[in-house]
Amino acid sequence: MGFSTDAIHVGQEPDPATGAVVVPIYQTSIFAYEGVGREREYSYSRSGNPTRAALETCLAHLEGGTHGFAFASGVAATHAAFSLLKAGDHLLAAQDIYGGTYRLLEQIVKNAGISVSYADATDLKSLEKAFRPTTRLLFVETPSNPLMAVTDLAACAELAHRHSALLAADNTFMTPYLQRPLEWGTDVIIHSTTKYLNGHSDGIGGAVVVKDEELAARVHMFQKSAGAILGPFDSWLVLRGVKTLPVRMRRHSKNAWAVAEFLEEHPKVKKVFYPGLPGHPDRELVEKQMEGFGGMVSFDIGSADAARKVAEAVKIFVLTGSLGGVESILSHPATMSHSSMPADLRDRLGVTDSLLRLSVGLEDVEDLLADLSQALSSI
Ligand code: PLP
Repeated sequence: MGFSTDAIHVGQEPDPATGAVVVPIYQTSIFAYEGVGREREYSYSRSGNPTRAALETCLAHLEGGTHGFAFASGVAATHAAFSLLKAGDHLLAAQDIYGGTYRLLEQIVKNAGISVSYADATDLKSLEKAFRPTTRLLFVETPSNPLMAVTDLAACAELAHRHSALLAADNTFMTPYLQRPLEWGTDVIIHSTTKYLNGHSDGIGGAVVVKDEELAARVHMFQKSAGAILGPFDSWLVLRGVKTLPVRMRRHSKNAWAVAEFLEEHPKVKKVFYPGLPGHPDRELVEKQMEGFGGMVSFDIGSADAARKVAEAVKIFVLTGSLGGVESILSHPATMSHSSMPADLRDRLGVTDSLLRLSVGLEDVEDLLADLSQALSSI
C-alpha cells in the first residue's frame, strides 16, 4: 500500500470489542487477568497499552521498521536510544544537533560512565578519525538543527558498522514521509513526535523505531523499566496527526520553498539555509536521500540586533522555540533551542546570535511572505 493509505490504516483496524473505526483512547492503567498467571495481551499500561500500541505499530511501519516505541517526549526517546550503551562505551555524536540532545549527552549520558565526543558528520574523513575502539553508537540528525546540513546516512551506517557501532538518526525534521533512514542502513530512528508527526502543537511526545528483534527487546526493556511512556490520550493525538502527515508535509515543503526563495532574494538577508535551494552544499545527497525538502528554513540576518527586531516584528509567525505545527513559528536558536550549548561552540558551528529559524506552517503563503516582508522592513 502507499504511504498515505498506511498512515490512515496500519495498526488502526476497527476496534475488536466495539467496531469503533477510530482507535479508542484506552484510558486505563490496568487490565483484568483471566486467572492467576493468565494475563491477557495487556496487563499494565506502562508495559503496553492498546492506543499506544496502535501508534507504535503505525510509526514502525511508516519508517520501514518492525517495532516502534512511544515515549513521553522526544528527549525521552533519545535517552532510550542512548541507553543502548553501557558504562565504558563511547558515543560519537554529530556536532550540529538539537541543543536539548547536547544537554542530555553532557548532563545525563556522561554521568552514566559513557564517554561522548562530537564530530562533523558531513565530513566523513574527520568523522572516521573520531571513532574509538569503544565507540558503540554514532548519532546524527539530518538535516541538522538549525543549519540544515545534510549527512550521508548510507556512508555513516557503513562507517558505524565497520567500527562495530550502531547508527542512530533523529528523523524529526523530515518524518518518514520525506526520508526513511532505515532504508539507508540506520539501526535506530528517533523522533520528537511533538513536531510534525503530531503536527498540531498540542502534545509532547517521542518515538524510537528499529528493525532488529534484539534491539527491539532492549528498547522495550528500557521503556517499561524507565517508564517514560506516552500516555493514551497523547498517543491518540499523534495517531490522529499521522493520518494527515503526507498532505501536511507536502504543503509545509511547498510553503517553505517559497519562503526560502523569498529570503534568498531579499537584500537584508545574508544567508539562507534550506535543502531545496539549488546552492545547498549537499544538493546531490539531498536528491538521493530525501523525497522533499521539508518545512524548516534558517537564515542569517547579519546581527543580533537585527535578529531581535525581526523576531519581535513578525505578526503571523509565532515567536517560540518549537516546530512542525500547522502554524508558522519563528525561533532564535541561540537563545531558545540551542541555549544549552556554550556560546563559543555555538559560534564555531554557526549557530550565531544573528541566525533565525522558521518552521513554515500551512497558512496562505502570500500572508507568510507579507509578514516576513514587513518584519524585515523594520531593520
Ligand atoms: N529532536 C529534535 C530535532 C528536536 O528539534 C527536538 C525538540 O525541539 C527534540 C528532538 C526533543 O523533542 P521534545 O521537545 O519532544 O523532547
